[in-house]
Amino acid sequence: MKRPTNITTLAKNLCNGDRRALARAITLVESGRHDHREEAIALLAAVGTTKQAIRIGLSGTPGVGKSTFIESFGLMLTGLGMRVAVLAVDPSSARSGGSILGDKTRMDLLARDPNAFIRPSPSQTQLGGVARRSREAVALCEAAGYDVVLIETVGVGQSETMVAQMADLFVLLLAPAGGDELQGVKRGIMEMADLILVNKADGPLKSQAIRTCADYAAALRLLRKRPQDPDGFPKALTVSAIDVLGLDQAWAEMQDLINWRRDTGIWEQTRQEQAAFWFEQEVQHGLLDLLRSDPETASRMTNAREELLSGRITPAAAAAYVLAPLRNQKPGNST
Ligand code: GDP
Repeated sequence: MKRPTNITTLAKNLCNGDRRALARAITLVESGRHDHREEAIALLAAVGTTKQAIRIGLSGTPGVGKSTFIESFGLMLTGLGMRVAVLAVDPSSARSGGSILGDKTRMDLLARDPNAFIRPSPSQTQLGGVARRSREAVALCEAAGYDVVLIETVGVGQSETMVAQMADLFVLLLAPAGGDELQGVKRGIMEMADLILVNKADGPLKSQAIRTCADYAAALRLLRKRPQDPDGFPKALTVSAIDVLGLDQAWAEMQDLINWRRDTGIWEQTRQEQAAFWFEQEVQHGLLDLLRSDPETASRMTNAREELLSGRITPAAAAAYVLAPLRNQKPGNST
């Protein structure tokens, strides 16, 4: 039988940089079991929040070169003496059974680097669950003393928004585009980016990459100025993940931006806003879980759903039907 987890020891080993302890701790926060959740909450409290990593969100469609970039960029950072953790938020992994980081051979060299830690996306049924647990995994990597935490996501649906809420910087990786492809990037995602990197600026694709980069730089200049940006940001640059070109400049830009945000207090303010965001998420999801675990409410939800799907009632009426008995139970409403 497995020994019960000793949270204090696990927290201590994790904070001392033990990678196995970190891996175990992440498994604990990803677990769906209720008793594990309590332990996970205790663990997160025990590791504290004193260490701060630079958290970088990285998004891009499949094939754009994310894993190649993470490997080259990660190795550059470990070469500079830093410790790098890589996590993934992959809403598709639950459906496909695979994961964007599941195949570690994609980052073979980085995976073998003792100063790097790579963790695939947890497989949960919904993005909300994946994202909430990934955000905790980020905090654990930070407590374990990693200097940089890279959070990879694919360019689909809501995953970018979630990743932006757990990152200090948001980087969008793009491929050289031909003609009118610029419109293919959703405006909302462009507006979230701090840095756009046009990858594959090498060989025959180089001139196309430079043109694409200029197009994006122009598009970024048209966006409304954001309070979290110094002059010149957000920026677009060309890189080649394969030939390791432009990565040092990308890192220099990231550091400039981070230093500016730290000096102006925006860094701290953003982290506070993010903490508030995740608090609300936890409360919302916790409330839903509570509702579903109550047999009477669960059965009302099933009935309301059936009525709704058959077109007999509206979504608002269905929700009101489910919530009515709960409203009556509110303190002050009881008889
Ligand atoms: P991901 O799906 O976004 O993780 O993309 P991958 O890193 O797996 O790369 C997809 C393909 O693009 C692979 O064939 C890579 O070799 C290629 N690729 C990645 N980065 C570069 C680059 O900088 N230049 C060129 N020419 N090809 C690249």
